[in-house]
Amino acid sequence: MKPIDLALPGVKALTPYQPGKPISELERELGITNIVKLASNENPLGPSPKALEAIVAGLKDLHLYPDGSAFALRQALANHLNVSPNQITLGNGSNDVLEMVARTFLSDSSEALFSEHAFAVYPIVTQASGAKGVVAPCHDGSQGPKYGHNLDAFQQRITPNTKIVFIANPNNPTGTFLGRESLYRFLLNLPDHCLAVIDEAYFEYVDNDDYSNAVEWLNELPNLIVTRTFSKAYGLAALRVGYAVSSPEIADLLNRVRQPFNTSSLAQDAARAALSDRNYLELSIAINNQGLKQLEQAFRQRGLEYIPSVGNFITFDVGRLATSVYEALLHEGVIVRPIANYGLPNHLRVTVGNQDQNRVFIQALDRVLGL
Ligand SMILES: *Cc1c(COP(=O)(O)O)cnc(C)c1O
Repeated sequence: MKPIDLALPGVKALTPYQPGKPISELERELGITNIVKLASNENPLGPSPKALEAIVAGLKDLHLYPDGSAFALRQALANHLNVSPNQITLGNGSNDVLEMVARTFLSDSSEALFSEHAFAVYPIVTQASGAKGVVAPCHDGSQGPKYGHNLDAFQQRITPNTKIVFIANPNNPTGTFLGRESLYRFLLNLPDHCLAVIDEAYFEYVDNDDYSNAVEWLNELPNLIVTRTFSKAYGLAALRVGYAVSSPEIADLLNRVRQPFNTSSLAQDAARAALSDRNYLELSIAINNQGLKQLEQAFRQRGLEYIPSVGNFITFDVGRLATSVYEALLHEGVIVRPIANYGLPNHLRVTVGNQDQNRVFIQALDRVLGL
């Protein structure tokens, strides 16, 4: 027997997650420098100086295992979120937390539900656990924001086997979000054999009165799991720290499958420092708001349709298959993200960079599109 025949059925059919192209890879391939990468929703500000200080201070202890329970970071997060430390589960990125949720609750007799064009990790962790992924079509623009999650379509697809509903709020790669009232009502009506994961990876960036903070609903909704990350607004993508906030009961279950040392000591210390750095977070958000305006204006001026975004990225329509535009941008030294694997073959997703990076991207796009 070949190894592929020995693999679990869910694993056999898996396609690995496709990350944004690393700068070093493009340098190797094309022999160019001064590359602008706007492909992975990374923070253009660089890391918080406080996080860097914490890392330097922690280097002398590299021979020691980290605190597997991450006492100090969980305490800091608990204070920050006004919950108890036993409601927090840390992950090696929130990806790790999503996988823990799938491993804890899904089997080959269960279903997980997520939206069309939703974050790619939901189908991957679902399929790897042997469960069936069910896709709810997104809004077509008549009842809610085009490409946004359609909660009526979710509702209609809940069966007695549905164990998890994954909701990205806001969603990547569409940048759409759900209004507070409709999301709350949907969660309230969820049957009790069903858990809801609200993925708030871009929470800190969202500036809209109709946006919710799902952590506030945890006392009322025992089946709720909220995930967040230090990879985006807190600028620590390389260190891999994310977390779930849930009931203590769910946290206890997730902790049973969690690898004992899944976050490193440097990551824990840096995350705690970044959490305390209010100036850094405010500057991140301000740069993002400016950049969103800059990019939206550029798309409008050029007659390029884009999906209005509340995150740190924008997805825009190039009006034809986007692969050649993506490739041509690479030759201009600009890396964006093709999203055909999200069912959006004519769109590209660009991360909001700083003003200079955005300008380089816009100028490269003009050359590539002949504008
Ligand atoms: C970036 C992102 C994450 C976070 O990933 P990490 O593993 O924490 O780096 C989670 N969910 C969505 C929707 C994202 O876009």
